[in-house]
Formats: sequence, C-alpha cells, structure tokens
Amino acid sequence: MSESQTIHYPQDEVHSFLLPVTNACSYNACAFCSMYAGEKFSPVALSKIEAELKHGDIYTERVFLTGADPLQFGFEKMNLLLDLVHQHLPYCACVASYASIRSISKYSTEELSILHQKGLWDLYIGFETGSDEVLKLMNKGHRVADAISQAKKLNEADLSFNTIIIYGIAGQGRSEENAMATAEMIMQFRTRRIITMNLTVFPGTKLKQMVKSGEFIAASNRERMIEVKTLLEYLNPTTPTVFDTTHPTNILKIKGSLPQDKEKLLAEVKKRII
Ligand code: SF4
Repeated sequence: MSESQTIHYPQDEVHSFLLPVTNACSYNACAFCSMYAGEKFSPVALSKIEAELKHGDIYTERVFLTGADPLQFGFEKMNLLLDLVHQHLPYCACVASYASIRSISKYSTEELSILHQKGLWDLYIGFETGSDEVLKLMNKGHRVADAISQAKKLNEADLSFNTIIIYGIAGQGRSEENAMATAEMIMQFRTRRIITMNLTVFPGTKLKQMVKSGEFIAASNRERMIEVKTLLEYLNPTTPTVFDTTHPTNILKIKGSLPQDKEKLLAEVKKRII
C-alpha cells in the first residue's frame, strides 16, 4: 500500500490499475498547486512495488503509476519497474504516468525509446503555459524552450503524451496573449491530447498569497472563455490531436479532435462568451 496520504490520478485512469511508485512530490513548489501540501516526498522501494504487483489481476491491461513524477526515478529504475510490471501483469499493454519536463530531461531519446518499447506511453505532462514570464511567476521550474525540446525528444522516441495546460494562469488582462503563446508552443511538437484545466486558487498555496497581496489578479470567467477560444483559433495541428476540456475544473466541458472538429468546438466556446 502507498504511504502517501493522497493519491491523484487523471480522470481517464479511473479504471487503470493504480500502482504507487512515489509518495507526494519532490518539487512541491508550483505556486498554484496544493496537491501534496505538507506531505513528505519519498520513493517507493522496488520490493514494495513488486509486492503490490503480486496482488494485481493477471489480466490487467493498463497500469497508472501514481505519484507526482515517477520518471524522476531515472532510466535504470524505470527499466526494472517496467520489467516487473510485465513479469506480473503479462497482458498489460500500457503503463501511463504523470511526468515533468524536468524529469524527462534526465533521459536520452534512446532510453525513452526503450521504455516505450516496454509499454510506457500516454504520459500526462504539466506544460501549463507557453509564456516564460508566467512559468516564472508560477515557479514551475522549467522554461518554454525546455518544454519544447523535451516534447520533441518524446516525439523522436515515439512516446505519446498528453499536454496539460491551465487557462486563467496569466491573470487578468493577459489571457489572449497567454493563449497565443501556449498555442505557439504546442505547435512545435506532436501531442496525443491537449487537456485544459481552469486555474483554481487553492487555500494554502503561494498563489493564494499572491492574490491576497494583489500581485496576482484573477481573470474573469468571460476572459477565460476568450482564452480558450483564442487557443483553439491558433491551434492547427497536422496530426489528429484531441482537445479536451472535460476536467472538473473547467467552465465548459467539450471534447473533440483537431483539426477536424475545430469549428464545432469553437462554436461551443463562442456560445459561452456573452
Ligand atoms: S504541479 Fe506537479 S510538479 Fe508542481 S508542485 Fe504540484 S505535483 Fe509538484
């Protein structure tokens, strides 16, 4: 069993076998995040991971590694972990996980390719925004150039991933500029899905203090919808890319494939801008 007090996983992984590999977040410094507030980071030992796998249903087809950033383990441990998954769950075709730009930068393209061949794919990566200024404000710990180069490395390794972005993150008056910068970043690489989240100011976060002190002024819901519209307008992927706003934080929940559903999705967003 995980020693972490909280286990977070994407809503689409609700039917996956949840395998704890780290407790909490080693970074724990993003200004907007309260996911693991007050929790101490620790990796789960491979012996404990194996003990957990022994209890798994042998017919499991999909595993989700829990913890904020399991890829920080590095290549050797991830390689061993994937071997253990396949030893105990031989029908498992996909091992998915959260990942950060920081942790992916520890791997070579060849190492990512080997992990992908062993079943690792469908990473969920918090890109958040395509603006360096906003990344710095939110203390995200990576720059846009890092995000683009790591995403391109994943593309080279054929390891598919979901791009998580947050609208409203630039604050009042900066939504359109943020949407354009974010679209420009995303257009530099291939991603399976763009998952949007709506910025929420959680108690106990640095962002909450920034709001109190006036350093950050939240955008209105109308402005946030204009941000989603602008983002969609500037996104023109050449390979099919799911645009997904169904995460519970979103004001409007829509999902479709770009480029084919672009006009339909835009029409839905425009209805909400009055
Ligand atoms: S957003 Fe992710 S990386 Fe940042 S503090 Fe939260 S869990 Fe850690």
